[in-house]
Amino acid sequence: MDVGNVIEQTKCDIVLLYGKLRRLCLTTLAGRRARQRTSRRTGECKQCGTCCKFVFRCPLLDENGLCKIYHSRLRPEVCRRFPIDRRDVEEVRLSSGRTCGYGFESSRDRRRRLH
Ligand code: SF4
Repeated sequence: MDVGNVIEQTKCDIVLLYGKLRRLCLTTLAGRRARQRTSRRTGECKQCGTCCKFVFRCPLLDENGLCKIYHSRLRPEVCRRFPIDRRDVEEVRLSSGRTCGYGFESSRDRRRRLH
């Protein structure tokens, strides 16, 4: 791997690590705000597992890349809430080039839907 790639990978890891910390803070310290944001979520999880591999692979993924505690009460809130907002969806793209199954409706679309 050349120096340019190492620098790009490091930048990507820093963004993803910051995102992890941001979500952890939102879900533990500002749960209400996190819930408000996730209420704007559309679509559904494709179970691609990309968000479980940001920076490091979650040790609770099985050999097929599926979460061993997905249906358990032990599944952390920060995992249940992913993605909290558009930034998280962008991190899926940044990490893997894939598209998360979730999206977020704009404020204008939300207002239109509620009226
Ligand atoms: S990246 Fe999106 S679609 Fe893939 S597992 Fe995570 S929430 Fe589901």
